[in-house]
Amino acid sequence: MKDVVRIPFLEHGITERQICKKARTILNALTKAGYEAYLVGGAVRDLLLNKQPKDFDIATNAHPEQIKQVLPSTRIIGRRFRLAHVHFGREFLEVATFRAPHDKSDKGQVSTDGRIIHDNVYGNVAEDAVRRDFTINALFYDLKSGDVLDFVDGMQDIKSRQLRLIGDPEVRYREDPVRMLRGIRFMAKLGFTLDPETEAPICEMSELLSQIAPARLFDETLKLFHSGQALVTLDLLRQYQLFSCLFPLAEQSFADDKTGRFDTLVRAALGNTDKRIRSGKPVTPAFLFAVMLWYQVQQGTEFYRKAGNPDLQSVHLAASDALGLQVKSIAIPRRFSNVTREIWTMQGRFQFKACRRSMNFLNNKRFRAAYDFMCLRALSGEPVQENCEWWTLFQEVDEEEKLAMCNKAKGSPRRNRSGRRRRH
Ligand code: ATP
Ligand code: MG
Repeated sequence: MKDVVRIPFLEHGITERQICKKARTILNALTKAGYEAYLVGGAVRDLLLNKQPKDFDIATNAHPEQIKQVLPSTRIIGRRFRLAHVHFGREFLEVATFRAPHDKSDKGQVSTDGRIIHDNVYGNVAEDAVRRDFTINALFYDLKSGDVLDFVDGMQDIKSRQLRLIGDPEVRYREDPVRMLRGIRFMAKLGFTLDPETEAPICEMSELLSQIAPARLFDETLKLFHSGQALVTLDLLRQYQLFSCLFPLAEQSFADDKTGRFDTLVRAALGNTDKRIRSGKPVTPAFLFAVMLWYQVQQGTEFYRKAGNPDLQSVHLAASDALGLQVKSIAIPRRFSNVTREIWTMQGRFQFKACRRSMNFLNNKRFRAAYDFMCLRALSGEPVQENCEWWTLFQEVDEEEKLAMCNKAKGSPRRNRSGRRRRH
């Protein structure tokens, strides 16, 4: 193991004031009680890059019970590997006891929920550094001395804007395949490149992601697509053959759709998501899945309709098929997949413009999501442009003009020769 390099303030520039007060309180309390305690992980990395950290994680040699003795507001969580949550009212910070890397005998073991099972032995700070994923995530900030502790040449990688796994990349990916996704996420988030040795095994090892519990992949997918860099992330995931492990149906749709509409739809939707996130607006996972599975749902709907099913039922059947396949890779909680289904089933309602129906639809709590989705479809080249324009205007005008609009639209769409309603 390498010796520690202590990087002084003059070289790293992190000041005490950049660290949130709660984290400082914890660090000071633990060091005063005679323990080692450092700010670690994403917070140190982000401060070095002049970015605002998402959260401030702390690592210490104090065991959870000892942390609780020093900081009585601590709640100890987790059964297998216990973590301390130090509470400040409703908020809390995570304080983890140093862990050692597993020994070689049990390498590559992953539990049924996709987490590493050997990662549960306490260690010292140097050991805690090398069990982390990328070198830039393994820097420790020592509030007491003002130094950054570097065991893995992480500072060098910060400077050269590189993502480098600690240790042998193949071993580290096998230990936890999610590290491949984390690599992509940090590339997109930080604009870093992958070190060639870290990059080389990814495509070949991408299949390992199928071992990961779908619930964990749901969390990772949201981090990938809801961090304000969804478009870049999509391209990177596809480039490294990781996208098909998360969204096999969508990857197929890119290949099958010769019109290019699916590609346009996905890009427009992710571009919108990025904009919303950057301006602080809410986003929902339901929309992401509605977009990614849309081509498949359209194909399925057509199939069921041809087999003689009514329109709405055809959408429902196709929705169940698509969601049923998707949850094999990514577990979508019901509260989201139900909304995804609603976004799809509501698409047929935009053709009905009779007054009462339109007003009711406008007041439906899913109207906005369904409308946004329909306008993206229009943008992708589907023949729903007229509906998009009509409903856009309908929302903007006052009551009187609304009445005039729907009276003029006469409500129901014309029926075609077979007696079925026209589809839009
Ligand atoms: P973000 O800013 O997105 O939260 P982060 O680096 O803080 O990035 P977390 O998921 O919060 O990411 O993890 C905190 C730290 O824990 C990481 O910086 C890394 O040191 C370590 N870590 C997280 N996941 C893994 C993993 N799969 N393998 C090894 N170390 C990990
Ligand atoms: Mg973090």
